[in-house]
Amino acid sequence: MEMMADDYDTRGILRPLVFRLHENAPAIVREVLLERGWTEFDKKERDDADWNLYWRNSPFRMTDHHSVKPWQRLNHYPEAVRITRKDYLARHLKRMKGAYGSALYEFSPVAFIMPNDYVKFVAEYSKERQSVGRRPSYWICKPVDLSRGRGILIFQDIKDLVYDCAVVVQKYISNPLLISGYKMDLRLYVCVTSFCPLTIYAYEEGLVRFATEKFDLSSLDNVYAHLTNTSINKYGVSYKKYKEGIGCGCKWTFSKFRSYLRIFGVDDMLLWQKINNIVILTLLAVTPLPVASNCFELFGFDILIDDKFKPWLLEVNYNPALCLDCSIDDTVKRKLLHDVVELLNYKQIDTFRQNQMAGIKAGRRRVPWSRAGKSATGEIPGLFTCQKVAKCPSASSVQPAMQATRGSIHKVATLTSKTARAHPKKTLTSQLRERMNVPKIPSQAKAEAEIKQLSEAGRSPHKSAQLNHWLPTPDFCNYELTTCPYFLSDKDQRPFPRVGGFVLIFPFNEAALQASRDGTDVKSIIKEINKLVSKQLPSKQQNGKKRVGYLTSAI
Ligand code: ADP
Repeated sequence: MEMMADDYDTRGILRPLVFRLHENAPAIVREVLLERGWTEFDKKERDDADWNLYWRNSPFRMTDHHSVKPWQRLNHYPEAVRITRKDYLARHLKRMKGAYGSALYEFSPVAFIMPNDYVKFVAEYSKERQSVGRRPSYWICKPVDLSRGRGILIFQDIKDLVYDCAVVVQKYISNPLLISGYKMDLRLYVCVTSFCPLTIYAYEEGLVRFATEKFDLSSLDNVYAHLTNTSINKYGVSYKKYKEGIGCGCKWTFSKFRSYLRIFGVDDMLLWQKINNIVILTLLAVTPLPVASNCFELFGFDILIDDKFKPWLLEVNYNPALCLDCSIDDTVKRKLLHDVVELLNYKQIDTFRQNQMAGIKAGRRRVPWSRAGKSATGEIPGLFTCQKVAKCPSASSVQPAMQATRGSIHKVATLTSKTARAHPKKTLTSQLRERMNVPKIPSQAKAEAEIKQLSEAGRSPHKSAQLNHWLPTPDFCNYELTTCPYFLSDKDQRPFPRVGGFVLIFPFNEAALQASRDGTDVKSIIKEINKLVSKQLPSKQQNGKKRVGYLTSAI
């Protein structure tokens, strides 16, 4: 029997989206999804496959990945741990350094994985000690699979190095950028919506995390002066006190940091470009990951900036902390999660539904589902028809993941046997609620108004959008942002250049896009990054802003 559009209309249209949380999943994920009108998965009430997003803190089993359905999303990639475990990361970056040159990959401090690299470490340590006139380095020893600053030791003399588990010994950046004498680092959120083709978004808002006691190399065991983890500093005696130049607590937003840098004439754009390069080069180091569809990864990149304004990658976090310790956390993380959901593009189905509804209302036509693909909507490229999807028992066969297939996702959900039942308690669709509830940040609203004004005056909306955002979007993604922000170009399937605070940083140009299709051509991508890096410096020097390195003493 052929399914008719009206069936979809009456059964499916009122269904809220469903999330599933594993134990220990952050409370704010639940809050945000409920705010957006989603409903929580209940095993007793629902079919096993009747959910749209599954969020857990630990990796999924491969069977979960293999059985994921086209309408579902998982919040982890298989083997993402390849960059989030400190020893794996060190190994991958070392390999890339060897293959592509240390100039490009010198953003991560020299590291030794213990106990295997003990001899190499001793050789390096001794070489330094013997070289005349060179101040011996400081080192930091970190357990490979612990987080939140646990088990960390900073030392200068090898006799102080003790460990009873696998650790990474890394060169300690002993000249960090200090604000009013306090050390800080950046927690940058990065969302990879696909590893194949590689698609990376950086979040333009984030957290600046401060140590709560003044930096002092003569007290290496003072964790409140040397570590910037909130999990440590919130227990320090100075945490709640007002700290001159910093304020109370231990966090700033990126926006505040950026204003601060600008006051001192620091070229924050150049700094951001460098950080973006670090993110891309790091993620390239772990490609290819096993092919997996319908999953995404929200990483937390920890970036330390030194007093020459050089950004260093300290580590990449799996499950970046989403707890709310202060109001800054609430502002940044809540909006971040809203934007993650936006990025997953559940909204496209809403557009699809609106069109479908409008079509039905206008003509009361009965559209056979087997033809209800692109021709039925006229708007959603790559939309799978029911027939096509019915042949796809798992999402693994639906490519590219999370891009062209999104429109079909919820439609299929409505057609599974149990999921087709009515949900009388829900009177509003989660999509409608999504539209009403999603907070619009003032800058975004302002940007949109400005885009509208400028486009009315015949100017490019894309370029004007850049005026209001910190990070520019890649020029080659020149979409009509005002008219259809969720549109994915049918013929070339380009990712969206910006979604909320997420900015597409890879692919960053046409060549990078081509090189990331049909498997990742790392060599060609590195070539493009090299070109980018050489372009970045001269253009910034010309634009009249001071180079960052000169300003250290001012801060
Ligand atoms: P964890 O996973 O335990 O948080 P990190 O690698 O993020 O481990 O280190 C914790 C903190 O220690 C960082 O936030 C930073 O303040 C400091 N730190 C880590 N590595 C270095 C380094 N190489 N140089 C300077 N500070 C570092």
